Amino acid sequence: MTASPPAPRLVIGIDLGTTNSLAAIRAGRGARVLRDKDGEPLIPSIVCFHPDGRTIVGREAKALRLSFPERTVFSAKRLIGRAGAEVDREARLLPYRVHRGERDLARIAVADHDYAPEQIAAMVLQKVKSTAEHALGQPVSAAVITVPAWFDDGQRQATRDAAHLAGLECLRIVNEPTAASLAYGIDGSKDGTVLVYDLGGGTFDVSILRIDSGVFRVLATSGDTHLGGDDFDQLLVERILGAVSVAAPDPYMLQAVRAAAEGLKITLSSATTATLRLELDGHAPLDIKIDRAEFEGLLAPYLQRTLACCRRALSDASLTAAQIDDVVLVGGSTRIPMVRHLLHAELGRAPHTGVDPDLAVALGAAIQADVLAGNDKSLLLLDVIPLSLGIETLGGAMQKLILRNSTIPTSATEEFSIAVEGQTAVALNIYQGERELVRDCRQLGSFTLHGLPPMPAGLPRIAVTFLVDADGVLRVTAIEQRTGHEASIQVVPTFGLSRDEVRRMMLDSIENAQSDYVAREAIDLRNKAQAMVSGTRKALQLASLPPDQTFAVQKSARALEKLLQADADASSLKAATEELSKLTATIADDVISSAVKRALGDEQSHS
Ligand code: ADP
Ligand code: MG
Repeated sequence: MTASPPAPRLVIGIDLGTTNSLAAIRAGRGARVLRDKDGEPLIPSIVCFHPDGRTIVGREAKALRLSFPERTVFSAKRLIGRAGAEVDREARLLPYRVHRGERDLARIAVADHDYAPEQIAAMVLQKVKSTAEHALGQPVSAAVITVPAWFDDGQRQATRDAAHLAGLECLRIVNEPTAASLAYGIDGSKDGTVLVYDLGGGTFDVSILRIDSGVFRVLATSGDTHLGGDDFDQLLVERILGAVSVAAPDPYMLQAVRAAAEGLKITLSSATTATLRLELDGHAPLDIKIDRAEFEGLLAPYLQRTLACCRRALSDASLTAAQIDDVVLVGGSTRIPMVRHLLHAELGRAPHTGVDPDLAVALGAAIQADVLAGNDKSLLLLDVIPLSLGIETLGGAMQKLILRNSTIPTSATEEFSIAVEGQTAVALNIYQGERELVRDCRQLGSFTLHGLPPMPAGLPRIAVTFLVDADGVLRVTAIEQRTGHEASIQVVPTFGLSRDEVRRMMLDSIENAQSDYVAREAIDLRNKAQAMVSGTRKALQLASLPPDQTFAVQKSARALEKLLQADADASSLKAATEELSKLTATIADDVISSAVKRALGDEQSHS
């Protein structure tokens, strides 16, 4: 007996963006984007909790932003894995309500419900997943998901939790600019040093990579998780509100003005002036004219911040601008002409525009997904952590165990002692950041080592090990060396959900599990109908039937095919499939039905 080789594992790549999300899959030498039934690749990362009880995600939700501003959640990625205090300023600008929940985590309140940003992200991921399943005609259970390179540990953990909640196994978290470089360099002709500049809706990332015969090594990364197109919209919102002199805009007005501001911004990428006609209740219509030069003046400080990040990444990689062979643009905001001009001037070369800035990240994620699925062994991705990791020592100093831009996976062990005689437990606080004092860094979690035998101060030797996995996520272990005592360890995440919370949310999402099931059934039904149509066609060629019967069968098959093309609902598909199968089953001497069975068997053994 010979075992047939295992079917290649289906793993998709997902770009979970602040503004838009999308999925892609490996195809041939490259990858292809998975589009929805209208052929659209981008799924707005927006969730609307409709007053009628429906939860609507994606393009439809975006359209509802103006009608239900307080119920439509967008840019939730800006809140994921963050404390309420950290997002206070931007939360004030959002039309929906953000508040501080347990452990000061940022949470989103809609009507009488309360959501963690992870849950919103999970809903977006579910939509991406079902869109992908529809496009592929088969269930998807595993994915590679991208995050901004500049995401810290808390934000990465939170993204993984969101995948889990969405019923997706997250095989790897990949940094967005790194993924984009894969899409850029996959054709094998791009060996050299590239700078990937990714300016999206909410975040900015820059990474410098060396590509050498299929090895993609990140040399340095830098960025800002609070800088992107949303901020540029906000500049124009303020400009517009200044012109209409409204003291306190309500959520409806704020949302309308924000949508108008984004429209102006996008117009200014292709035209040198843009005009907005504002018709607000109780105000005379007002024309607001903005020219590109004025907008560029407002943008300049933000874009300078992105250039500062580029310089820092260059310096961390010990490179000069002249040593960069190519500049790759990623993210919708790189369509702003000033971005291109500034980069050209800064790096002395025109940016490469061969990869679609909207799709590059998802395409690269799909390539990495294929590598992790074990199908492609010719590529190797060596990524880095963006920020140093360390532990608090006496006096609130930050003792770094792993330095930023270290290639992952990586680990480091350091010995610590205790300062108090006879102490049997020690609390360790873990931080991420570059500053010397922990108060200027971000606390990732605290860690208690219990059950130490009482010893004089300074005698215990506690070995603390930091292990950063390929996702850039940290795990910490500790052991008292002298006694060999491996004490009980408890890590409490400072930002993000505890395991119990994730479990609870999973239970809460039975409802979602049900809609998942319905979606899967719909896919199965479509596949069956498709096979039925082509099976019938083949059978008709084999059978010699009287013309009227041939006509009836053809007509029924055509009707089913039309329904498939129109993406009809499950019940009409089911009815038409049943009709066709009845017709083919009862026709004289079962000629067709047996031929159909033969053809269907044939079809299935080929798929
Ligand atoms: P994210 O990665 O955050 O999901 P995207 O890469 O999809 O973001 O980029 C979305 C941002 O790009 C939005 O702020 C959008 O307004 C902006 N954008 C899209 N097209 C243009 C354009 N032509 N000019 C300027 N900004 C644009
Ligand atoms: Mg993006």
